[in-house]
Amino acid sequence: MAKHGLLIVISGPSGVGKGTVRERLMDDKSLNLVYSVSYTTREMRPGEVDGVDYRFVDDATFASMVKSGGFLEHTNFVKHNYGTPKKEVFEALEQGKNVILEIEVNGAHEIMKKCSRENLLTVFILPPDRKTLEERLAGRETEDPAVIAARLAKAKRELALAKDYDYEIVNDDLDTAVKTLRGIIAERLAKLQ
Ligand code: ADP
Ligand code: 5GP
Repeated sequence: MAKHGLLIVISGPSGVGKGTVRERLMDDKSLNLVYSVSYTTREMRPGEVDGVDYRFVDDATFASMVKSGGFLEHTNFVKHNYGTPKKEVFEALEQGKNVILEIEVNGAHEIMKKCSRENLLTVFILPPDRKTLEERLAGRETEDPAVIAARLAKAKRELALAKDYDYEIVNDDLDTAVKTLRGIIAERLAKLQ
């Protein structure tokens, strides 16, 4: 029987580069990674694909999934709901796959409470500095100024929670950040064997 996979939680403030780092990490097929596609009620950004980046749903659909216990965790982030599908994550882990959750801090704390530390790895991605974070978030050109301001206001509280995670990685040079994360995961997987 395949061994149980590792659940990998990646958090960090909006615009720090979580998605960019994660996509690069997933190029390494030797890590046997799958990305858990979350449900969200926020609108789709240009270039995003339904079912690949998120499952985009309306408020009523999201609420009914909450009611039926379909989420491993869920939260509200800057006026929109986000949730991790429970069944799919558990099935992938049972098949021995290593599952990446890219989620914000409330959801990550929920997972830390619910899941055994033995099969859980938590990583917080930090910006080199505040100015760089602001530039990346604005430079992405996916949110209007009011939403950018709300996300940056949230970043301060999120950064204070970085210490609750197993590892903190500064995403300054992208190659270095990806290499560091890959090393951390490979080391942890070696211990699980
Ligand atoms: P998040 O998923 O954390 O919200 P993104 O992955 O969307 O962040 O990255 C935000 C912006 O920053 C994107 O335009 C991305 O190309 C850029 N970016 C990510 N990592 C780096 C890096 N190490 N150096 C420079 N720009 C980066
Ligand atoms: P964005 O709108 O930029 O895609 O995501 C906003 C925030 O929600 C990011 O911090 C992202 O990691 C987080 N997020 C995405 N999916 C989930 C989820 O299923 N649960 C939780 N708790 N956070 C999520």
